[in-house]
Amino acid sequence: MRENYTLIRLYLEANLSGGTKLELSKGHRHYLTNVLRKSAGDTLRVFNCKDGEWLSQISDVTKKSVSINITNILREPKPCPDITLCFAPLRKHRNAFIAEKATELGVTMLQPVITQRTQFPKLNVDKMRVQVIEAAEQTERLDIPKLGVPMTLDEMLRAYEGRTIFFADEGGGARAAMDAIQNAQPAAILIGPEGGFTDAERETLRASDNVVTISLGPRILRADTAALSALTLWQSVHGDWHDG
Ligand code: SAH
Repeated sequence: MRENYTLIRLYLEANLSGGTKLELSKGHRHYLTNVLRKSAGDTLRVFNCKDGEWLSQISDVTKKSVSINITNILREPKPCPDITLCFAPLRKHRNAFIAEKATELGVTMLQPVITQRTQFPKLNVDKMRVQVIEAAEQTERLDIPKLGVPMTLDEMLRAYEGRTIFFADEGGGARAAMDAIQNAQPAAILIGPEGGFTDAERETLRASDNVVTISLGPRILRADTAALSALTLWQSVHGDWHDG
């Protein structure tokens, strides 16, 4: 197991380099001092997407501020393999579940797609950003999934022309995901809302050159289960699961 593995880990927006001092945000200050009861001299890990993960030490604690000294690098930056999850927003707790679990499974972009049967189009993107950051901190990854601005299905198809889109179609007649997913990168996985896709949407999707229709088996899965199953399959073929 990696050294320092048990030290708490925070994602920071700031640039990170050895020998620099940083003042933490109010949220981090509260978390470290009030929740975790940390004090000057305690060590922690901090990371961002471009500078990697760094050991650091709390230097000053006052009622109004907490500063840390960045000491030495623990891990060089490393992005996860490029995979986007396009999903129709669900009920609040199911969106939270998708954000957390997809982040654990190494998704690099979460793209909300408003389809015709999407019942909960009002996604709280800011809240989801907090959820993905927390999950990324927990899961030891060195990058944070990006969050796309919600798009309609047509807008998404235009924006993602350069990607192979694996469209999970519960309607049957598609190739087994296990075989189809061997195809090209960069890739995206598209999962519908609980009400599924309309026939017109399925036709549009099936007619698009970069869309590969996949089946996730004979059972109808809930949208969150379908998303995580497809991500798992993609990861096992194209992802970094060989790296240990
Ligand atoms: N209400 C729909 C099911 C929607 S399930 C119905 O009864 O037919 C929500 C989404 O999960 C679907 O739009 C699809 O993208 C995905 N999904 C669920 N089960 C699937 C399966 N067996 N194969 C492929 N995709 C599936």
